[in-house]
Amino acid sequence: MLLKLIAGLTDRANRFQAAIKLAGYFNCSYLFIFIIDQEIGILLPAPGFPPTLPDGRAWQAFINSCPATGHYSGCLPFPESNNMLAATGISGPERSIAILLGGSPSEKEIEPLQAVLPMLVDLFTQELLLSTAKTRVALADKAVAKAEKLAATMDVMRLHLKDALIQKEKDKKAIEELMKKKDEFMNVASHELKTPITTMKAYLQILQKMVPPNGTASAGDFIVKANKQIVKLTGLVDDLLDVTKIYAGKMVYQFSDIDLAALIEEIVSQTQLTVQTHRIVIKNNAPVIVHGEKHRLEQVLSNFLSNAVKYSPGANEVVISSDLVNNEVKVSVRDFGIGIPPDQQEYVFDRFFRVQESSRKFSGLGLGLYISAEIIKRHGGSVGVESDGNGSEFYFKIPVVKVLQPA
Ligand code: ATP
Ligand code: MG
Repeated sequence: MLLKLIAGLTDRANRFQAAIKLAGYFNCSYLFIFIIDQEIGILLPAPGFPPTLPDGRAWQAFINSCPATGHYSGCLPFPESNNMLAATGISGPERSIAILLGGSPSEKEIEPLQAVLPMLVDLFTQELLLSTAKTRVALADKAVAKAEKLAATMDVMRLHLKDALIQKEKDKKAIEELMKKKDEFMNVASHELKTPITTMKAYLQILQKMVPPNGTASAGDFIVKANKQIVKLTGLVDDLLDVTKIYAGKMVYQFSDIDLAALIEEIVSQTQLTVQTHRIVIKNNAPVIVHGEKHRLEQVLSNFLSNAVKYSPGANEVVISSDLVNNEVKVSVRDFGIGIPPDQQEYVFDRFFRVQESSRKFSGLGLGLYISAEIIKRHGGSVGVESDGNGSEFYFKIPVVKVLQPA
């Protein structure tokens, strides 16, 4: 009879009904079989058994409430059922089942179960192996998916973190760079402003001693020298003020039509008066009218020329040329001086920039080219430089309004 009841369990479709019949044999209300995978610590209803207990309780909650040893409300709790398996010598990671009995059976009534337990285990072994393997694969798949998701999230977080750190580092560097530039500039500016003042002071002291009674002629020399320094000082202060104006967007321009060739001639002869070391040669002077502010274009030409002279101490000539190129005029100033290293050429129009190698030898604030570039930009033009070991050529291009015909 018992064997027949056990055989009824082979039909998976009607397994639960067969299990209830078998339970009746032990005077129990139901018999529930679980598969135990001890290795990965999972316990699931065997195939053909419902996901909840017949009385509607969730089996997980019920099992959790079972004491570690002994019977519980007439049921055979798991530790004992495992012990029974162990006693038959067939318990193992993938070959265990647990049996839960409903009702209040006595020890005696469930005793025959021990004898048929090996048969029950055999019956479920195949399914058990299959189902645990499937469960493991499903669990592993789930774990892999979870791990992949986690890894992706961590990757994104890592990138965000990296970005944030890089940004922070960049901000810090930019501020440090700015502070450094400011300090350097203040240093240079105060030095540059102090030099002419000190020189002027000295000349004026000498003058005081000399006048009267003797040597008014040399007094005149000193006055000329003091005046030169005043001009230099005024230039420096003007440049600083221009930068402030550019920065605040308050540089005002008054445009008019200008005869550029005449302007170049004028500025060249003016500059030549103050330069004894170099001859300033006009190679070509395109007869063009441009639209601009005379004083500001003069300033650009003067900056280019004074740089050309300053940075070519070993040379004796500077060449200026004005050429018509399409609808623009290109004005270039060529010197035969120290040149600019290729990796620094792109920065020469930057505010406060000075080529490091030469900055100690030559005085300056690093503002002339920056101001020039700003002025040319406001004239709708562009600036540039070409330089090599033989010297440099600075140029600007601005639109031409009219080309004058030769008279
Ligand atoms: P300042 O503000 O008095 O003009 P500066 O001459 O140093 O000072 P810029 O005229 O702006 O400043 O020039 C920037 C830098 O470019 C210079 O410090 C110098 O290193 C480099 N430079 C400019 N013109 C020449 C040139 N013709 N040859 C070589 N280097 C030059
Ligand atoms: Mg300069």
